[in-house]
Amino acid sequence: MLKDAHNRIINYIRLAVTDRCNLRCTYCMPEQMQFLQRKALLTNEEILALLQPLAAAGIDKLRITGGEPFLRKDLMPLLAALKAFIPEISITTNGVLTQPYIPQLKALGIRKINLSLDTLQRDRFMEITRRDQFSAVMQTLDSLLVHDMQVKLNVVVMGGVNTDELKAFADLTRQAPISVRFIEEMPFNGQGHSFSGNQWHYLRILDALQEDFIIEKLPNAPQATSINYQIRGYQGQIGVIPAYSRTFCGTCNRLRITPTGGIKTCLYGGDVLNVRDLLRSGASSAFILNEIQTALSNRAADGFEAERQNQHWDSMSVIGG
Ligand code: SAM
Ligand code: SF4
Repeated sequence: MLKDAHNRIINYIRLAVTDRCNLRCTYCMPEQMQFLQRKALLTNEEILALLQPLAAAGIDKLRITGGEPFLRKDLMPLLAALKAFIPEISITTNGVLTQPYIPQLKALGIRKINLSLDTLQRDRFMEITRRDQFSAVMQTLDSLLVHDMQVKLNVVVMGGVNTDELKAFADLTRQAPISVRFIEEMPFNGQGHSFSGNQWHYLRILDALQEDFIIEKLPNAPQATSINYQIRGYQGQIGVIPAYSRTFCGTCNRLRITPTGGIKTCLYGGDVLNVRDLLRSGASSAFILNEIQTALSNRAADGFEAERQNQHWDSMSVIGG
């Protein structure tokens, strides 16, 4: 069992399978993004060689993210192989290419999909993502619901950009059993330290929602990053994720693996180890596991401490959101 310096058990990995993306969300990356060379990415064989021993050490939850995971040509065989030894696999996707894969995902037993969508307006989608793919994403959303998948909508709340749509997003939960999660914007926009601060604290988001709805708090799931509510009489749920306020660090059970095999023990921290280099130099799984455990033993107490130790903020597409 993997444990960190603060006695937190680590059973959850977020794996970014690529840094490439078919959108250019302004809060995530610049238009001219320098993507990594393909040979720098972990191969499927390397991912499996890494995750099998981690699963034996207690990792039973895996989120596949990126970049856009469905840009990876060999994603489906990878998922099938991972599903053989990791019980719970979920995916975060922008939904542009996702729709055709939904029946296969369902057949594999992968039903938890986080779909990122920051606006319900086509023109605004184009402004935020710099690409005209709104219809494709909406078709994916419809199809996910038709196939009875467990859908969470990730909405990054940006002052002056989409805060007038909080009500419209919350209204989606009236008829559909989806969870709409409002995320505080974080500094990971791939533009160094250009972040001017988050003006929409999660409490401000909640206040705004309470102007339109009577919301009831739901019990906190253990290790959850979102604080969840339900609007009376509605089928779905709404949640706020204090990603910048970092109120959830105390129960963090996560480890991140970047597309190049970097290990991050905190979203706000730098890479503390590179497992791709270890694998390519022939290191044994026992040695790699031991290195990961050592990295966890030096883990920062929370995202604020990790941020103080970090020199550089990458794009979220490299960190793995
Ligand atoms: N491309 C996929 C997608 O967009 O769903 C997966 C990768 S994306 C980096 C994962 C999540 O990170 C998305 O929900 C996205 O909205 C979120 N994200 C990216 N940059 C962010 C930022 N600066 N602040 C808050 N959330 C961010
Ligand atoms: Fe791509 Fe996801 Fe980043 Fe948007 S948030 S640019 S979809 S990786």
